[in-house]
Amino acid sequence: MSLQGDSPQFDVVILGSGIAGSILATILAKHGSKVLMLDKASHPRFAIGEALTTHTEKLFSLLSHQYAIPEFKYLTSFDQVNQNIPGSSCGLKHSFNFLYHRQGQPQSSSERVQLAGTRSTHLFRQDVDYYLVQVAERYGARLFSNVTVTDIDIDEHGVGVKLEDGRKIDSSYIVDASGFSSILAKKFGFKEQPSRFKTKSRTLFTHMTGVKDIDGCLSEDKDKVVPWNAGTIHHVFDGGWMWVIPFNNHEHSKNPVCSVGLNLNLSHFPKSEDTSPEQEFKHFLSKFPTIADQFANAQNIRPWAATGRIQFSSSKCMGERFYILPHASGFIDPIFSTGLIQSLIAISPLAALILQAVQRNDYGMKNFASLEQLQQKIFDHYDSIANSTYISFKDFSLMNSWLRVWLLQHTMSLAKLLWEPLQELAIEDRNGYVHKDLSRFTEIDYLNAVDPALDNWGNDYIRKVETELEKVEAGLISSDEAVSRILSLLHSTSWFCKVNRFIKPSHRYVDILHSPWFYISLLAYSFYSQLFLKKEVRPFKVSFKNTVNELRWGIEV
Ligand SMILES: Cc1cc2nc3c(=O)[nH]c(=O)nc-3n(C[C@H](O)[C@H](O)[C@H](O)COP(=O)(O)OP(=O)(O)OC[C@H]3O[C@@H](n4cnc5c(N)ncnc54)[C@H](O)[C@@H]3O)c2cc1C
Repeated sequence: MSLQGDSPQFDVVILGSGIAGSILATILAKHGSKVLMLDKASHPRFAIGEALTTHTEKLFSLLSHQYAIPEFKYLTSFDQVNQNIPGSSCGLKHSFNFLYHRQGQPQSSSERVQLAGTRSTHLFRQDVDYYLVQVAERYGARLFSNVTVTDIDIDEHGVGVKLEDGRKIDSSYIVDASGFSSILAKKFGFKEQPSRFKTKSRTLFTHMTGVKDIDGCLSEDKDKVVPWNAGTIHHVFDGGWMWVIPFNNHEHSKNPVCSVGLNLNLSHFPKSEDTSPEQEFKHFLSKFPTIADQFANAQNIRPWAATGRIQFSSSKCMGERFYILPHASGFIDPIFSTGLIQSLIAISPLAALILQAVQRNDYGMKNFASLEQLQQKIFDHYDSIANSTYISFKDFSLMNSWLRVWLLQHTMSLAKLLWEPLQELAIEDRNGYVHKDLSRFTEIDYLNAVDPALDNWGNDYIRKVETELEKVEAGLISSDEAVSRILSLLHSTSWFCKVNRFIKPSHRYVDILHSPWFYISLLAYSFYSQLFLKKEVRPFKVSFKNTVNELRWGIEV
């Protein structure tokens, strides 16, 4: 699109048209705001952040419902993606797979964990981002691609963005969705040096072809629920992990590519400037025979990207007339695919806050303050999760018990997403009436329901487990001692753990959706939460009706 002769006046300018920028632009445009996305690149283009989880999908579903945008529903399962996003080359994620490796030894069948759930998706981001930006344009958002922003002036009257060709764009508000570029966090000196996050890791990543199906490289395993290759593979070792995200793992795939990323704890693997990423990857393969076998014929089809410390954080996420989305204000680690979860949790209230600000012509910072607090809390929570995960990789049994903690908080997130008030938060009611009063959307409290980690109970519990793991790291207790403490913490947490077999480390192959205990306990949880939980744990009641719907949906899958 040419900027020549175009002097637009926008309600909101969004820096970046990645997945987060496009989703926010779609919501704002659909509900009447004048929105412009500015991107330094053009679609389709490579982007990282490919694995979804059931949690991410439920958040897409919530956003679709909340803002009456059917296209977001297309991201709620693998089958939805394939049916509705034309020409997309996504892969299947039927499970989270953890294969523990020891140097110089073939991977052992006794050190595997498979957590199988819904048919989720490995997003081939260049296709999906391209689709989403077109959706945003269809709803009326505008996009200027291949532009360079040279300056941004913000004062109490509005925002002025200067482009390299000298033109200036005026808007009332600006959102930074530029990912790692972090334009506004840098401009306002918000970036923390060093980052406050405890996790300290670096990443090498690329796309490859010729990566073997891992099932052919592993010793026989009759207990697996689904093939290992039908999900995200985590090759785990002391000091790090590696993702293998196949896009070619289903019968309809025409995409031969696998996403590959090696994540290294900086204390175990400091970065050497003398070694290229190719050399480092080759050296890594030489230590782990089963992984080497999987990559014997692999070729990268784009240059390796190699980061320094990948964590970054910002002291603030907003200011006068601007907001900085999660991926532009902080990043922790790819582990457990939480990046998009963080973006969606923030976008849900941010969109309503901006729509309300446009409606009232009041962009006061106080309206966005609770969201900023929530966003920082989410960062710190996922930092605890990532930090704990890296420590747990010291040993298979430690990792296996920690995975139960993660699984519990993941499951509770899903249970909480069934809560009736969340389901009722829709901008259009069943008769198509558009609610003018957005205030209930902007009460950040309701988002505490989205993730148990964000209430006091979840936070305290994860912190207690992390403390035990940190003692292992400091050499104060053995891994075995930590395992027993973590398991007793798990059992003391709630009866939910006692009845769910998948919380027990001896169950290394977990089929959540086909576990009757999962549904029975979910139903029981809906009653229990209303009757017995402490007040802060149940800001909203669980809906029996939604739980039953979920049960039906689970069985259909
Ligand atoms: C190594 C790695 C692995 C990850 N894996 C996962 C995962 O498996 N699952 C998951 O949920 N999340 C993952 N994430 C996080 C995920 O990538 C982000 O949550 C997601 O990409 C956020 O989308 P976004 O639109 O905010 O940013 P991006 O996707 O980075 O988009 C930013 C956009 O801004 C544009 N831009 C950049 N600079 C400028 C500029 N100066 N001016 C104008 N435009 C600009 C870019 O061209 C781009 O289009 C991962 C992240 C990393 C780093």
